[in-house]
Amino acid sequence: MVILHQLPRLHSSIFLTKTPFLYTHFNLLPKPKLPTKTTSTLFSTLNSTLSTTSEPIPIPTHNLDIPEETHVPISIEKLFVPPDTDVSSDTAASLSTRILKGSNIVLSKYARDAQVSQADFVKSSVDTQACPSDGLPEFALVGRSNVGKSSLLNSIVRRKKLALTSKKPGKTQCINHFRINDSWYLVDLPGYGYAAAPHELRIDWEKFTKDYFLNRSTLVSVFLLIDASIPAKKIDLEYASWLGENQVPMTLVFTKCDKRKKRKNGGKRPEENVNDFQELIRGFFQTAPPWIMTSSVTNQGRDEILLHMAQLRNYWLKH
Ligand code: GDP
Repeated sequence: MVILHQLPRLHSSIFLTKTPFLYTHFNLLPKPKLPTKTTSTLFSTLNSTLSTTSEPIPIPTHNLDIPEETHVPISIEKLFVPPDTDVSSDTAASLSTRILKGSNIVLSKYARDAQVSQADFVKSSVDTQACPSDGLPEFALVGRSNVGKSSLLNSIVRRKKLALTSKKPGKTQCINHFRINDSWYLVDLPGYGYAAAPHELRIDWEKFTKDYFLNRSTLVSVFLLIDASIPAKKIDLEYASWLGENQVPMTLVFTKCDKRKKRKNGGKRPEENVNDFQELIRGFFQTAPPWIMTSSVTNQGRDEILLHMAQLRNYWLKH
């Protein structure tokens, strides 16, 4: 089996004898609500999975605006626990309040300074050597053409057209750096899997992006974008497995999660496609990579992505 060393992480030592399920649509801060149908379903699920513990289980908090069918059950061993984060003393209920909504990501003490107050395009580079050399941490966004990368980038920085820069002729095949708050970078990499691209261009692109992934020392994590409105594509699975095999830290960002209607193409909902994707890549990773559901139409996941980036970045800066 291929092993991916993400940033070092702790594993939950609780509930090892069982596989309790948490739900991923929790708010960050406790927001006490009286039981509703959704809450009581959730409560009974947690209760039944924790029947070996004697402590009372508080009613977990979660976002009641989200329809019940969108809740994604998640087992503890599939959570992403950031480095330097101890969850061993958490109950399932307290841990569930620390999971970023629509993700498997546990919040750590490093999740701060997540707001974007400034975003500037800095430069387009043709290779890794030409990238900025000021040592600031960076996150690279990559995905199949049309996955929604530009839309997500614009949504993250709350600018309508910042990512257009990457779509200008001559820059689509470049590494495009955007400096955020003068302290870190978002990096837009060329989309892959564009059928019309000439063969030589694809080979060339492969060489330079792979070189970037393997040699860019300030790269904190790749954010691999996957369209959650359609079933997994072979090329996305290959991409994820390549990152896994090469131990490049990766976060899966599922896009277009607002597309809720059943589609002829397999007829699956976004959360089913998200689950299927996890299953298909499981063999390439020793531990579950972080993943998060987003939509640039509703801005679902925007604040959560920023918190996740903040905690990875702040840990990276300290170590
Ligand atoms: P890129 O080629 O990866 O940069 O993709 P774009 O950001 O240009 O988006 C490709 C298409 O998908 C456009 O028609 C967008 O309007 C659409 N799109 C992008 N993000 C979303 C999303 O979150 N939800 C929906 N429903 N459509 C989206």
